[in-house]
Amino acid sequence: TEHTLGRLAEESWQRFDDHDAVFYDGVWHRGHALAERARRMCGGFIEAGIRPGDRVAVMMANSPEVPIVYQALWAAGAVVTPVVFLVGPDELRHVLTDSGAAAVVTSPELADTVRAAGVDIPAYVDTTELERAAEHGPVARDPGDLAALMYTGGTTGTAKGVMLSHQGLWHVARDAFALSHQEGMNRALVPVPLSHAYGLIITVASLHASEPQQTVLMRWFDAKTFLELAAEQHVRYGTVVPSMIHQLLAEPLESRPLPDLAYLTCGAAPLGRDALREFERRMPGVQILEGYGLTETSAVTTFNPPGRRRVGSVGLPLAGYSLTIRDSDGEVAEPGDVGEVCVSGSSLMLGYWGEHEPDPEGTALVDGELRTGDIGCVDDDGYLYIVDRKKDLIIRGGFNVFPRDVEDALDRHPDVVLSGVVGRPEPALGEEVVAFVQLRPGATVTAEELVTWARERVGRVKYPREVRFVDSVPLTSVLKLDRKALRALLG
Ligand code: ATP
Repeated sequence: TEHTLGRLAEESWQRFDDHDAVFYDGVWHRGHALAERARRMCGGFIEAGIRPGDRVAVMMANSPEVPIVYQALWAAGAVVTPVVFLVGPDELRHVLTDSGAAAVVTSPELADTVRAAGVDIPAYVDTTELERAAEHGPVARDPGDLAALMYTGGTTGTAKGVMLSHQGLWHVARDAFALSHQEGMNRALVPVPLSHAYGLIITVASLHASEPQQTVLMRWFDAKTFLELAAEQHVRYGTVVPSMIHQLLAEPLESRPLPDLAYLTCGAAPLGRDALREFERRMPGVQILEGYGLTETSAVTTFNPPGRRRVGSVGLPLAGYSLTIRDSDGEVAEPGDVGEVCVSGSSLMLGYWGEHEPDPEGTALVDGELRTGDIGCVDDDGYLYIVDRKKDLIIRGGFNVFPRDVEDALDRHPDVVLSGVVGRPEPALGEEVVAFVQLRPGATVTAEELVTWARERVGRVKYPREVRFVDSVPLTSVLKLDRKALRALLG
C-alpha cells in the first residue's frame, strides 16, 4: 500500500484530523469529519461491488464531497474518472462507454444529464447513501496501478483517457508542492474545477504537507466572489487560470487590497506578460507564479518557484521531469532554439486508454518521451518559455502566425477584456487571421481601431484583417480559450 493515494490520504488524516480543512458555502469542515465520511464511503463502494481496478466516473461540481469521493475510491482501489460537471449527455456517454465505467457518482442537479446519457450502470446521485456503510481502510494496491483516468479534449479532437498511476500522481504532487510551497502558506482559495488535472493535483498535493492545509473551495469562479472570499477568509494564495486573471482585471482591484494574499499560481493556458504586470501593479504584494503542464504529466511539468520566478517563463521542471526541445525533424534542438517541448520522467502517464490513431500535431508518447505538441524554448538556467501550440499555428501566405502573439497585443488594449484569434481558410493565402474580441462594458473602441492597434504591435504580416466583437469569448469547461468554438463562429 506504499505510494498509493488511499494510504497517503489515510496518513494525512491521522496527522491533521483536528483542524478546519475545507471551507465551502459559509461552513468550515473539519479534517476528522471528512476522513470519517471517506472511510464510510470507501466501505459503501466496496459493499456496492466496486472492485480494485474498476473505473468509477465522478461528475460533480466543486464541493467538499469531491475530495471525499476521490479518496474513498482510491482507498477502495478503484480508478477515479472525473467528468467536468458542465458537459452534456453525449460527452458523458463517451467517457462512460470508453472507460467501461462500473458506476457514476454525481449530485442531484446533474441526475438528468446522467439519465440522458443512457448508459446502464449504477448511478449514485447522492453520496449520503454510500456513507451509511461501516468504515473501511485502504485496500492493497500496487504503486504502478491506475489511480485516475482523465479525459482531455477541451480544445481539440475526441476526448482520450489519460492513464495516471498512484505513484505518478503522488510524485508529481510531492514535487510540485516542494517547488511551490513556502512556510506559512497554508490557506488556499481554489476556484479551478477539481475534475480537471490541475484541481486533482491540488487535492493530492494538500495531502503531502507537513503542516495542516486549508482549502477555501469555490463551486465555480466568479471574480467578485473570489475577491470577497479572499478578503473574508484571509487566504494566503490562490490557484487560477489565465481567463480568471482577465476577469479579475475587469474588477476595481484597487478598492479592495488583500494584505494576506501572497501569490496566485496560474497555469493551464498562456498568460500574457502584460496581464501579469497589470495585475501585480493593481494588486501590490501579490505575485503571479506561472506553471505549465498537461493532463499527461499529471498537470504540472514546470513551475516558477516563489523568489526565483522569471516573468514570461513557465518556470523550472519538477524534480522528476526533464525537458528536451526537438526541431521539426525530431532532433534535439540547439540550446536556446525554439522547438517542440518534450518531457521525460518516471511520473508521465502510463499511456492513453484504448487504441488511438497517432495525431502528428497532437500530444504523443514516443519511446517513453512525451511530445507535448507545444512550441517553446529553454534558457541557460533551465526556465521554459512556451510560444504556442503546434496545432494552433496559423499559416498566412506562407508566414507563421502564432495566435497568442496577436491575442497578447489585443489584450493589452484598455477596452479589451479578452480576445481569441483563429485562422479562417482563405484560398489565396491559405488562412486569414481573424480576432474575436470581448470588450469591457461601456467601451467605445471600433473594430477598425483594434485592427490598427494590432498592426502597430505585431506588424504587417500577423495583424488580424478582421476583428469581430462577441459578448463573451467562448471558453472550455476549464476556462481555456475554446478554439473549436471560435472556428465554428467563423461560419
Ligand atoms: P487537448 O485535449 O487538445 O490536448 P486540453 O487543453 O484539453 O487539450 P490539457 O492537458 O488540459 O489538455 O492542457 C495541456 C495544454 O495546456 C498544454 O499542452 C499547453 O498547450 C497548455 N498549457 C498549460 N499550461 C500552460 C501555460 N502556462 N502556458 C501556455 N500553455 C499552457
